Amino acid sequence: NKLNVALIFGGKSGEHEVSLLSTASIYKHINKEKYNVFTIGITKDGKWMYYEGTEENIRNGKWVNLANLNVEINLVPMGNKEVGLLFEDGHIEKLDVLFPVLHGPYGEDGTIQGLFEISQIPYVGCGVLASSVGMDKLICKKVFTQLGLPQVNYTDTNRWVFNKESEKELDSIEDELNYPIFVKPANLGSSVGISKANDRKELLEGINEALKYDSRIVLEQGIDAREIEVAVLGNEDVKASIAGEIKPAKDFYDYEDKYINGTSTYEIPANIDSKSMEDIRNMAVKAFKGIDGKGLSRVDFFIDKKSGEIFINEINTLPGFTNISMYPKMWEATGLDYADLIDKLIDLALDSRK
Ligand code: ADP
Ligand code: MG
Ligand code: MG
Repeated sequence: NKLNVALIFGGKSGEHEVSLLSTASIYKHINKEKYNVFTIGITKDGKWMYYEGTEENIRNGKWVNLANLNVEINLVPMGNKEVGLLFEDGHIEKLDVLFPVLHGPYGEDGTIQGLFEISQIPYVGCGVLASSVGMDKLICKKVFTQLGLPQVNYTDTNRWVFNKESEKELDSIEDELNYPIFVKPANLGSSVGISKANDRKELLEGINEALKYDSRIVLEQGIDAREIEVAVLGNEDVKASIAGEIKPAKDFYDYEDKYINGTSTYEIPANIDSKSMEDIRNMAVKAFKGIDGKGLSRVDFFIDKKSGEIFINEINTLPGFTNISMYPKMWEATGLDYADLIDKLIDLALDSRK
């Protein structure tokens, strides 16, 4: 009695390619004795298509041309139509679990989770609220402050205020923070639109760049930091993995370093003292519970190289999931291998909707 699991991948997001890699990896390793696996792709312009074929064609993007457009994907209960996949021969495959292997906007930000709620099919990972809070760097910081989690100093601006009084805004940012200042669009990931400003001219350029991606901008005190990450797993009973450290190859961990050059290296476990390790793991669980997290998240921290202070940076509710991504690697180091991790996530999806 196998469960029908649908991997939903691709997506209308700057992180489309990352999703293809994560999906190919999950598809390869998922326990096929236990699950019938269906793959549903979303193109870069947002079209949903049923695909059946090799993981290689998911990885390299060829699935788009190989999709079977005669299979209907019905996720919204409408009239007498059954929810699930409707095949050409008329048979319907009901879906027991939806597994969004998507990153960034429309995948990780609560929007698709809203659709899944409406479908009434259990799904892997965080719900609407945790997903949208996790994606919004500004709201998330406010929640972290409320939870008493340490963060670097920050402020914010937005398109309307900035376009009206940019000189006054720059003055007030300079009053609150010292250079270097990190400029970030509120709602993105993968370092897209993020820059490090060393002076007022770069600050202005950085804000204008970030405004291309979002109307709300976060400005953060830049620090010289080690970057520590922790994987979190669970619903009510939440566990944190051993922490790992990312060692960016460049000035900061930018998009190129993450996905194009892949020149950064990592160390698991992170070489930090046991007290810091404990604190970081506890803070990760606190952050996850604080945003009402379910299933999984990767929580990222900074350790100030000068003072040794720990700061929480962000929570990623659908972290990269290739077999060499940090999230599964950190669980592996904690004693849970890749295929078992997938199993566990599916169990948690079924469990959270009981
Ligand atoms: P994303 O969600 O796009 O990953 P992050 O907030 O994690 O955005 O920022 C991307 C990278 O920029 C971080 O991994 C780190 O290398 C660098 N960075 C971000 N904020 C700071 C900061 N305040 N001080 C130092 N480095 C930072
Ligand atoms: Mg992020
Ligand atoms: Mg990050």
